[in-house]
Amino acid sequence: MSTPATLNPAQLEAVHYLQGPCLVLAGAGSGKTRVITHKIARLLQAGYEPQHIAAITFTNKAAEEMRERARDLVGPRAAKPLAISTFHSLGVRMLREDGERVGLKSQFSILDSDDVLSILRDAGGTTDAAQARRWQWAISLWKNQGLDADQAEAQAEDDERRIAARVMRLYQERLAAYQAVDFDDLIGLPLKMLERDPEARTKWQGTLRYVLVDEYQDTNAVQYELLKALVGERAMFTAVGDDDQSIYGWRGATIENLKRLPQDFPQLKVIALEQNYRSTGHILRAANNVIAANPKLFQKKLWSEFGDGEPVRVLECDNEEHEAERAVARIQAIRGNAGMYGGQVEWSDFAILYRANHQARVFEQALRKANIPYKVSGGQSFFDRAEIKDLCAWLRLLVNNDDDPAFLRAVTTPKRGIGHQTLAQLGEFASKWKVSLFEALFADSLASAVSARAIGSLHEFGRYVNDLEYRFRHTAGAEDAKPALLEWLKEIGYEQHLYDGEDNEKLAASRWQNVLDFIDWVARRCGGEIDNEGGLTTETEKKTILEVAQTISVILSLAERGGDTNVVTLSTLHASKGLEWPHVILVGVNEGLLPFKGEDEEMTPQRLEEERRLMYVGITRARRTLAVSTLRRRKKGREFVQGLPSRFIAEMRLHEASGKEDPREKLKALRAELAARAAAKAPAEG
Ligand code: ATP
Ligand code: MG
Repeated sequence: MSTPATLNPAQLEAVHYLQGPCLVLAGAGSGKTRVITHKIARLLQAGYEPQHIAAITFTNKAAEEMRERARDLVGPRAAKPLAISTFHSLGVRMLREDGERVGLKSQFSILDSDDVLSILRDAGGTTDAAQARRWQWAISLWKNQGLDADQAEAQAEDDERRIAARVMRLYQERLAAYQAVDFDDLIGLPLKMLERDPEARTKWQGTLRYVLVDEYQDTNAVQYELLKALVGERAMFTAVGDDDQSIYGWRGATIENLKRLPQDFPQLKVIALEQNYRSTGHILRAANNVIAANPKLFQKKLWSEFGDGEPVRVLECDNEEHEAERAVARIQAIRGNAGMYGGQVEWSDFAILYRANHQARVFEQALRKANIPYKVSGGQSFFDRAEIKDLCAWLRLLVNNDDDPAFLRAVTTPKRGIGHQTLAQLGEFASKWKVSLFEALFADSLASAVSARAIGSLHEFGRYVNDLEYRFRHTAGAEDAKPALLEWLKEIGYEQHLYDGEDNEKLAASRWQNVLDFIDWVARRCGGEIDNEGGLTTETEKKTILEVAQTISVILSLAERGGDTNVVTLSTLHASKGLEWPHVILVGVNEGLLPFKGEDEEMTPQRLEEERRLMYVGITRARRTLAVSTLRRRKKGREFVQGLPSRFIAEMRLHEASGKEDPREKLKALRAELAARAAAKAPAEG
């Protein structure tokens, strides 16, 4: 195995320490994630069965990557049973297997953010989308702190929060009735299960005997409790993290978890890594300088054996369009000078990073114009839009009548006089008889559970779904499919629904346009005209709408993965965590954008520190070159305002002479000293 040769002594220590809990606390690019993958190999060597090893990553993509690395190290057979996933996917697994212990049937539904919002609007009796989002936010934070509705209400400081806590209670009642959970429950419920059910605890502690956690600094309170409950008294785990990269405080992550670890586990072994293997000297120094402005929780130093490399470039731009042009020009210039960068430079060697999703658009346009392939990661894709998901839910329901979340979405979008109470009763009835919601519709005994009037509406909906299913099963070809699809939208009143749900007419119009685009997209597939979006192969045969609907979920999952790999990455700073690229362009580095400041928002020291950590994360994604760009004028709403370079640019202290603390000098001195010692020893031994 190649393990020892590719790890430094501190990494080796972390990998080989199996006696008890272990924390690797180290800066960016120091090989923390590498320690985790190598430790998996080490655990296998030490006799752990692969299915007893759990590695928890921050995103699904990171989990995929870790699995690949593990496969390279230990081979496919050992890698396959490894439990490598996010906290959320682990939660799904635990609930699928044992959800009944906390009152869930095994076919429970997982609600996405839009489902949650629509339930909240309904439960709280509001059409105000912003209000519903504030409730969603508050409820999520409470759940992440481990609070239920009663506790949240008891500690609410003002009316707004008291109301939110009450809405939370109604919301929870509905989730229970629908046999549905939200994302936060995927952590909270497994925790509840382990805390209350000794049998479940024994089972899961026996299943996951060694737990590794990456990006530990961004776990929230509930995730920490889940980790604790999983590892139990044996406390066999390794967590790796960097307090300077904690950037999800706004979502409830807490650095407290780092402080609590040594208190809760006094025997904790703490290991620091100091050598950075990612970035050249200029980049690393800029990163260290920026983060030095934050108060320190833990002292860390990072050095690199790589040379200084190229100085960090600051690109001053007139406005967003100019900034995008310069970014494209820079990418082309580096490609043109590939010789300077070791020969081949791929599109995938580049990332353009920004603070907020909406900043991506201008860059997309510029890249498209220049014919440069790219992908947007961490952003909202076409298929994530609420209106598209609405229609997909309908199609999913036609394909699979038992898809309960699809049922719930379709039956309430648009509204058809079937209220939440009816749905709750239907849900209870369905779970009692262990049937899907759709099946329950036509059960004779439903009359005992639901009012006669409600049954009428439910039957009407059921008949409509059946009728539509029949029509879509027999409609093929683009010319027939398109009018059939439009007819359906008319029948359910979808356009009106969009305008009713949105005070801003322009927004509603653009959503309706998305719907029409989607209809076109489906119709083209019915015509057999299949392009390579989604990676499907070329076919020419006509298809029915239902056949196309059947492949939609496959296409969607492909669309999420994005197929192409040799492309420039456009990403938010948040989504870039843990990743690296040879060439990084950090854009919009202006006051107000990074650090980001909302309209009436006060910039507290805590907020500023989190923004600074984001900047640190951004800088440390770069391996060989880094450019940061600023705007002289920037758009703010509809107006242009003068742009001020971010304070973080000054904090990078780019002007400073590079030689001052050159780690190479240190290393040279160290080598000279060692050589001198060896020379002094040599004659005596010889
Ligand atoms: P981040 O804080 O950004 O998550 P990290 O500490 O997890 O960073 P890794 O991503 O594990 O760091 O490693 C950074 C880079 O350095 C990777 O390309 C990795 O392969 C390389 N690397 C790590 N350790 C070594 C080593 N001992 N020898 C050679 N390369 C290494
Ligand atoms: Mg990492």
